[in-house]
Amino acid sequence: MEEVMPEMYKELYALQNKLEKHYRDMQDMEFTVQEGKLWFLQTRSGKRTGTAMVKIAMDMMHEGLIDEKTVLQRCDPQKLDELLHPVFDNKAMKDAKLLTTGLPASPGAASGQIVFNAEDAETWQKNGHKVIMVRIETSPEDLAGMAAAEGILTSRGGMTSHAAVVARGMGKCCVSGAGALIIDYNKRTVKIEDVTLKEGDFISLNGSTGQVFQGEIETKAAEISGDFAELMKLCSKHTRLVVRTNADTPHDAKVARTFGAVGIGLCRTEHMFFEGEKIIAMREMILAEDKEGRKKALEKLLPYQTKDFYEILKAMDGLPVNIRLLDPPLHEFVPHDKKGQKEMAEAMGIELEQITARVASLSENNPMLGHRGCRLGNTYPEITEMQTKAIIGAAIQLRKEGFNPKPEIMVPLIGKHDEFDQQDDVIRATAAKMFEEEGVEPIEFKVGTMIEVPRAALTAGAVAERAEYFSFGTNDLTQLTFGYSRDDIASFLPAYLEKKILKVDPFQVLDQKGVGQLIEMAVARGRSVRPDLECGICGEHGGEPSSVKFCDKVGLNYVSCSPFRVPIARLAAAQGAIENS
Ligand code: PEP
Ligand code: MG
Repeated sequence: MEEVMPEMYKELYALQNKLEKHYRDMQDMEFTVQEGKLWFLQTRSGKRTGTAMVKIAMDMMHEGLIDEKTVLQRCDPQKLDELLHPVFDNKAMKDAKLLTTGLPASPGAASGQIVFNAEDAETWQKNGHKVIMVRIETSPEDLAGMAAAEGILTSRGGMTSHAAVVARGMGKCCVSGAGALIIDYNKRTVKIEDVTLKEGDFISLNGSTGQVFQGEIETKAAEISGDFAELMKLCSKHTRLVVRTNADTPHDAKVARTFGAVGIGLCRTEHMFFEGEKIIAMREMILAEDKEGRKKALEKLLPYQTKDFYEILKAMDGLPVNIRLLDPPLHEFVPHDKKGQKEMAEAMGIELEQITARVASLSENNPMLGHRGCRLGNTYPEITEMQTKAIIGAAIQLRKEGFNPKPEIMVPLIGKHDEFDQQDDVIRATAAKMFEEEGVEPIEFKVGTMIEVPRAALTAGAVAERAEYFSFGTNDLTQLTFGYSRDDIASFLPAYLEKKILKVDPFQVLDQKGVGQLIEMAVARGRSVRPDLECGICGEHGGEPSSVKFCDKVGLNYVSCSPFRVPIARLAAAQGAIENS
């Protein structure tokens, strides 16, 4: 146009600048030239990718067109995902065949060959293949396979299922609860409508939308720019609520720290038990018939736990690390297959039948409501003792080496304050004994609790008499407030969304009217007893923008989310501070 009609071009150029300045935003303009006259037909704010969103906002701020607060409000937190995870190449998407859609459990794009179990995922990956692990659902035993895979696809499970939570922690793409999948582990096939795919066939996942595609689709790697870093600095300047991370490994902790996390809000200790030798000692502890046997196994676990806590406290030196005592139902750790049971019988020097009987006795009708959370520590205080010894032991060692460890010990799933108080007794007595035995100055540490049972929220005043902080476990709090199983919601969620009974998945977006009311009430009741009570959230909602803004509104001190959601939460927190002020 500049060559063919230079005058007209000059006019267009001047007008487009005027419009951009007037609206203070990038414009999507339509114009026509008719009989030598330039006509503007329409102008509106242009759509943009995540990368462009950040660049445009920062450029306009540098040009003096918009101020810092406008920059923050202009940027959509969810779109930062595009800067942090691989995305599909737009050109490659043209011919993509959509097979089905599940839940967008962990963002990013991934392509690879189908494998059906963790062992194969590891072997294929070692042999140079990119794989997608396809499972009905995942369990802690699948961790190594999940780490080896490009992405994870499950037919069952909600947004807080094992697959979803672990994949988000790893920053790995995951689609969960894709109910249309019929998986046959024996034949190594997966049928989706009229398409049957077998082991080795290519499949592609979009974890941000839940879409599952047939074949291989090219992906583009994430790019973090200087504009992004500058945007994050602006977030810190305007925020009130700080962002911690949910991390169980030093690696995840370091990643989150580079994204600006100012501590660990939840370290799920159970995730530490699945590597190598640890699982054998852990299983021995669970399968033990009596306290004596348990203590023997716990002695073996102590050095492993101490090392794990040492590493994670070191990675987060100077920042608070909130370590949760053992939480999940014990039977999740026991071997359910014959091979694993034989291995345990040999390791423990007892008959296979004894193992089989113990595994059967641990099975529960409703594991989520069964022998888990603080019920474990209250029935077997020796577990709490061992974990406290490991945490305090690691902190003492680090202090000797000149580090500044800041441990926090968290009791999960309490409903009655007595459940907390008795654990608090065990923790404090164990710690005091350790300081005395080691002959060292006591290291400061806090003992707090998760609020994830509605009764705990209702009686928060009594809980805060002794609990030094609250962390809202909104995965369980949502499950127990709605009465929806967090692992089975995928079976009725699509119908509920279609019928508009639910507007959104409450495990993704905090239900402010119901669950939120419990949070607000618990904060108020807790602080009426302990005015400086620190309150945070560590459920999956801690990385969801509208939930983060709600947390700011009700006066929480921090949100905690998986490492790759830290920048999203930081932006949402800054927006919340602006909107709620
Ligand atoms: C929760 O319930 O919100 C929580 C963080 O704990 P978990 O998901 O491990 O049960
Ligand atoms: Mg929980």
